[in-house]
Amino acid sequence: MNIHEYQSKQILREFGINVPNGLPAFSVHEAVTNAEKLDTPVVVVKAQIHAGGRGKAGGVKLAKSAEEVRAVAQELLGKVLVTHQTGPEGKVVERLLIEEASKIKKEYYLSFIIDRHTASVVMMGSEEGGVEIEKVAAETPEKIIKEYIDPVIGLAGFQAMRMAYAINIPEAAIRRAVSTMQKLYTAFVDKDCSQLEINPLVLTEDDKIVVLDAKLNFDDSALFRHSDIAMLRDESEEDPKERIAAAAGLNYVNLGGDVACMVNGAGLAMATVDMLKFYGGEPANFLDVGGDSAPEKIAKAFSIMLEGGQAKGIFVNIMGGINRCDNIAKGIIEAAHIISKDGSSLPVPVVVRLEGSMVEEGREILRNTPITNVFAAPTMEGGAEQIVKLVAAAKN
Ligand code: GDP
Ligand code: MN
Repeated sequence: MNIHEYQSKQILREFGINVPNGLPAFSVHEAVTNAEKLDTPVVVVKAQIHAGGRGKAGGVKLAKSAEEVRAVAQELLGKVLVTHQTGPEGKVVERLLIEEASKIKKEYYLSFIIDRHTASVVMMGSEEGGVEIEKVAAETPEKIIKEYIDPVIGLAGFQAMRMAYAINIPEAAIRRAVSTMQKLYTAFVDKDCSQLEINPLVLTEDDKIVVLDAKLNFDDSALFRHSDIAMLRDESEEDPKERIAAAAGLNYVNLGGDVACMVNGAGLAMATVDMLKFYGGEPANFLDVGGDSAPEKIAKAFSIMLEGGQAKGIFVNIMGGINRCDNIAKGIIEAAHIISKDGSSLPVPVVVRLEGSMVEEGREILRNTPITNVFAAPTMEGGAEQIVKLVAAAKN
């Protein structure tokens, strides 16, 4: 789960980390009064959306007077901000962060993420911080320094020190940088983060180390023990399809393409997505329906996939075990009735590959259905290829 920058900064503040003074604002009026409360000559007005790249897109602006704060807040609130991380549809700005401006001498990059290969947290740092970090990672990866952290020992002082020197933090600020890194690591572990990114971490003109931007990501499976963080969920930032699917007990992830799939088992679902891609399709989603084949659940899954016209075809790939293939076949037909009223056709072609218990009965049901655009596929490969072709044909 993601949270907003101002919420991330509030959490980091509780760990004694140096974050600029700031207050969130939900209206132009609040933006102006909060800027006055900060009582500082220059404030930064920052659009709060769950995406980076705001600086370049005009979502981060300095303001030197109440009038300027008002003008910037008026411009940003309600605006659709399109950054390289939002996708072309952008995100509506509903909240701002009004912050005391910092005098920046240099911008660094610092982040913590879980590394699967070493099964540990890795701290990454670079002296090329700021808005171009993706470019640095792509073109000069050697400028990104890594420190792998032993989970038992934690971030050792010498490691933090080594990082601080490697990214060329000046002598006068080394101790502060080391202490900031260690506090950030403590926050990462205590709050069950899956990612913690500070870009930029800045050196100010008076050699202080300040967290100027903060992005925290939490492990959903650990949220049960962080009710304070779970409360920060901003549903307006999340994919509505994923929200509806989660409420219906479906493991659904929107992948943005147009070839949908409904599969049982996470491994098979991932293999199915790979296979659709292999045949040149753009997978619309990952969907694991689990061991429950109730027609209502299949109908719900179908309607989520079809919502907004996203899916141009659906590949059902079920390995019958707990789910009997005949029940799945019946479920698809009933789902067609629920979705299409008369039940004679589905809005898009559906290719069904069934294997496992009661497979012959299941295939028989599909062969005899009056629904015109449901096709039984004998193999997974054949089914994937067929649905990709049907979707391509529908688009031409
Ligand atoms: P992002 O573009 O979404 O990652 O937003 P950031 O919070 O990282 O801000 C983008 C850039 O705005 C930073 O890299 C800074 O260069 C600039 N910026 C942000 N806050 C301040 C500030 O307090 N003072 C100054 N001078 N620049 C700032
Ligand atoms: Mn940033």
